[in-house]
Amino acid sequence: MASILIKNGRVWDGERFSCVDILTVEENISSIAPHISEKADFTYDASGMLVSAGLVDIHTHMRQVSSDEYGIPIDAVCLPFGVTAAVEASAEKGDGRLLSAFAVKGAAFVACRIEHDTAVLDMTERLLHAYGDAGVGVKVFFDRACKELKSTKPLREICAFAHARGKKVLVHCNHSPTTMEEIVDTLQGGDIVTHIYHGGEHTIADHGYAAYDLAKQKGIVLDAGMAGHVHTDFSVLRSAIKAGYLPDTISTDITRCSAFYRGGRYGLTMCMSIMRAVGMGEEDILRAVTSNPARALGMAGKWGCLRVGGTADIAVLDYTQEGFDLTDAAGHHITSKKGYRCALTIADGQIVYKH
Ligand SMILES: [Zn+2]
Repeated sequence: MASILIKNGRVWDGERFSCVDILTVEENISSIAPHISEKADFTYDASGMLVSAGLVDIHTHMRQVSSDEYGIPIDAVCLPFGVTAAVEASAEKGDGRLLSAFAVKGAAFVACRIEHDTAVLDMTERLLHAYGDAGVGVKVFFDRACKELKSTKPLREICAFAHARGKKVLVHCNHSPTTMEEIVDTLQGGDIVTHIYHGGEHTIADHGYAAYDLAKQKGIVLDAGMAGHVHTDFSVLRSAIKAGYLPDTISTDITRCSAFYRGGRYGLTMCMSIMRAVGMGEEDILRAVTSNPARALGMAGKWGCLRVGGTADIAVLDYTQEGFDLTDAAGHHITSKKGYRCALTIADGQIVYKH
C-alpha cells in the first residue's frame, strides 16, 4: 500500500490550526496525530511550513469545458499551486465525465446567453443535464461588454430557472449596467457574486458598502475572483480589506490569458499572497480557499478539509521569499517581499506536484 507521512508541519484542517503529523494510506487520510512514528513509503518534513487541506479554486476556466478563448489545461495551473478542486465558471461544452478525467476534482457553473435583455436558456438546460450533479449552477456575465444586457430582468429570469432546479447562480460583475446592490437584491442565499473588488462602474464601496452588507444579511457568497491583472482594482481591494470587508472566497479566474500575465507565477497562491499583502489575516485567507468555497459548493466535509477517513488532498505551502511587484489594469501597484509558494501537492493520496 502506498503511504505518505507529513511530519512537523503547522496543519490547517479547513477550520483551525494544530501541530500534528498526517499519514495517508492509498487515497485516504489514515491518521492525524502528534508524532506519528509509523513507517511510510515517503516521508516529508514540513518543518516551518503550512500543511493545508487541498485548496479549492471556485472560479477557473478549463480547456474543453470553457470557450476556446479562455480554457486552459486545468491540472497544469492548479496542482503546482496546491489546488486540488476547481470549479469551471462558464461551461460551454463537455459534460460531467470530462471533469472526472482531471486529477483536480471538478464542478461547473454552466453558461447562459442573453439576447435583447432576455435570458435564453436552451443551451443552459442542455448543459445542466450533461453535467448532472457536477453542474452546480448557472453563470451570468453581468458586464457592459454584453451589449444585450440592460437591466436585472435577465438575472431574475436566470434565478427563477436555476433555483427551480436546485442550482445556484454565479454572477460576474464588472462595469455592470446595474449596481452591485441591485444584483445582490435579485439573488438568493447561496448564490455567488465574483470579482467583488473590481474597479469598474458600481463598485462594492458604493453607498457605504451597501451591497456587501446586504449580501451578508442574505447569505450570498462574495468571491474575490482576482483574474490576473483585470477585474481587481488594488485600491478598491486595499480600502475594502482595511475597512473589514473581507471576501468569503478567494479565486483565480485563471484563463489562457491570465495564467501568463504574472511571469507564469499566477495561481491561487499568488492570490493568497496579494490578500495577505493588503492586510487579510492568515486564518481568513485559508478559510477562503478551503472550507468556505467547499461550503459554497455544497461540498463541506469532502473538499477543503482534512479528516481521518477523508480523501488525501493536501497542499504543503511555504510563506517565503516569494516576493512580487504587481500593477493592476488601472495602474495601482502592490508589492511584497514575501508570498506563498506551494512545496508539495497530494491529490487522492498521490504526489502530483513537488517543488
Ligand atoms: Zn471567469
